Amino acid sequence: LVTIRDVVKRFGDVEVLKGIDLEVMPGEVLCLIGPSGSGKSTLLRCVNYLEQSDSGYIRVADQFAGAVVKNGELHEASESEIARYRQRIGMVFQHFNLFLHLTALENVTIGLVKVRRLAKSDAVERAKAALADVGLEHLQNSYPRHLSGGQQQRVAIARALAMEPTLMLFDEPTSALDPELVGEVLSVMRRVAEGGMTMIAVTHEMRFARDVADRVAFMDQGRIAEIAPARQLIDSPSSERTRHFLNHVR
Ligand code: ATP
Ligand code: MG
Repeated sequence: LVTIRDVVKRFGDVEVLKGIDLEVMPGEVLCLIGPSGSGKSTLLRCVNYLEQSDSGYIRVADQFAGAVVKNGELHEASESEIARYRQRIGMVFQHFNLFLHLTALENVTIGLVKVRRLAKSDAVERAKAALADVGLEHLQNSYPRHLSGGQQQRVAIARALAMEPTLMLFDEPTSALDPELVGEVLSVMRRVAEGGMTMIAVTHEMRFARDVADRVAFMDQGRIAEIAPARQLIDSPSSERTRHFLNHVR
């Protein structure tokens, strides 16, 4: 579903991604782990085209990030093509990024009306279903300030899922939460994964990665240093650097 080929990203003269190759299968859950500054967020942002990579290409389903194929040649994508590309990708951030002046239900509905162009009543119906899926139907009329961090993150997940993406990206979705709220968000993510969603998740939750991911990729200094089935990478990493990292996060 996702193909990443030799992706390089620079900020000024610093090469932050140094040639990333990665393939994610439909329904696969891939966890990205690695030290701070290794390029995990930048890679996700390139997949979502929040950043444009300097070379290489990224394809999600049949669409390219930042470029489209016309008559067998790659052309720079237009605004509307980029918008169409992004619509297929749901993203959940560390800081929930909810609209603070909108209720939970309105937060989920707004994209369905403005981006998906659903009729208001259809959008509300779908948004209610999405909130029910994350166990928040009873809080649909609450504003973010009246929700716990875990509840806010579940609204953010519902908002992304309601758009029916083909791919979900998570960037440390539990890092900003109090420890006792981490579990409810991870269990929602686990259910999304079990529902067959293709996911790329940056996380420091090694137990989640080990139990839920199909594969885990360890990023170090802008490269994928090791990628393997989840249990294999976490229980018996093959590189010394991966082992060192794992010993320090556990
Ligand atoms: P963390 O675990 O701390 O979130 P990360 O693996 O997600 O780290 P990135 O955020 O991708 O790492 O950053 C990789 C490198 O790119 C870092 O050195 C960072 O300072 C740099 N970087 C990221 N975004 C920008 C930017 N917009 N401008 C300049 N440098 C950037
Ligand atoms: Mg990051």
